[in-house]
Amino acid sequence: MPSNTELLAVAKRRLYANYKPAPFVVARGKGCELFDLDDERWLDLCAGVAVSSVGHAHPALSRVIAEQAATLMHTSNYFYNEPNILLAVELTRRTGMDRAFFCNSGTEACEALLKLARHHFYGLGDKGRNRIIAFHNAFHGRTMGALSMTGTPKYREGFGDLGGVTHVTYGKIDEVKKAMGKDVAAVIVEPLQGEGGVFPPPTGFLKALRTLCDENGALLLLDEVQTGLGRLGRFLGSDGLGIQADAIALAKGLGGGFPIGAMLTSEKVAGALPPGTHGSTFGGNALASAAALAVLKIIDDEKLVEGAKTKGEALGKMLDELCAEIPEVCECARGEGLLRGLVLRDGYVARGVLPIVQENGVLLTAAGDRVLRFSPPLVVTIAELEEGVRAVRIACEQLASGDRSSETMTAAKPAIRS
Ligand code: PLP
Repeated sequence: MPSNTELLAVAKRRLYANYKPAPFVVARGKGCELFDLDDERWLDLCAGVAVSSVGHAHPALSRVIAEQAATLMHTSNYFYNEPNILLAVELTRRTGMDRAFFCNSGTEACEALLKLARHHFYGLGDKGRNRIIAFHNAFHGRTMGALSMTGTPKYREGFGDLGGVTHVTYGKIDEVKKAMGKDVAAVIVEPLQGEGGVFPPPTGFLKALRTLCDENGALLLLDEVQTGLGRLGRFLGSDGLGIQADAIALAKGLGGGFPIGAMLTSEKVAGALPPGTHGSTFGGNALASAAALAVLKIIDDEKLVEGAKTKGEALGKMLDELCAEIPEVCECARGEGLLRGLVLRDGYVARGVLPIVQENGVLLTAAGDRVLRFSPPLVVTIAELEEGVRAVRIACEQLASGDRSSETMTAAKPAIRS
């Protein structure tokens, strides 16, 4: 087997350079642990950005995938397959929605939401109703439609956009009211902004959006790509808020690492995309559907939704303590369930701090400019969360005191202080 160093050299020449991965090659995983080609252990508290919900190489998930692969993988949507029908039943049962459309990623699920909203009103003969209200700092994906709704200008810069999207401040219902009009097809919102910096909305915000949409005849679209599947300590991030969306996007944790996305819809918009208007070659294939069914069963069997709530509260407490200990570096902690952010003081850049945390064997991701994001597998243990927070504490202490190796300082310093 080649070493990390050998393969990294090839990666630098041959992989398209749109990412900046950590400098090691992951070879295998188990639970919340990853091992690289040199057999070094890493504690994975990012779960491939909130994806590996049941941990790496979960035996029940691996077994179902292997068995399904040996039975039937793909037929296209010219034909039904059993796991896909069963998955639609499971997802609609758990969410109170009526129908499911399947795709392969969160971006595609959000793209489907956009097309659904516009085509719904087109089909009703209301062709002028096609504007979408989205939020600053929102993340809905990278294709041109999803990107147009994404609220971070740097992601959109240089690509143009589709137009017809108005961005307003997350949490500010008055701004949404001002932007609302008879030309608005839908409001799209994350129940908690993940990529934008782990921002929970103010209490009552989603309910107020639902009311506003109802008053104005617009649809409410929920992007639950990051918040769904138990991540916030409830099955959907929007559960318990007393609202029902017109359509919901799911992906990430749904396949536990196997690519799958879904758009769930209410019956009201069931006719918005008739045959020929939208589709996906791979979407809903038997293999991805079987994987998602296995993930849902593991979530139930291991009570992972309930676990995300209790373990998430414990993590929140640990991060609050860290903020109290090192206030010169840590501003505050926020989030819900097992989606938590440690907000660094103004001037620090989270992406520049990640390598310092990695020096202590722990993998996190950044959200927004200065938030270290914890989105561990839902099977994480309290001991693993403690290990993760210990690594972050060491990094923050080093930042506070300037006590860092010269290599780390030269590599990371320009990125840390903006
Ligand atoms: N929507 C939200 C809320 C997300 O967090 C993401 C990805 O981070 C997406 C959509 C895009 O999902 P994907 O990267 O699977 O296309």
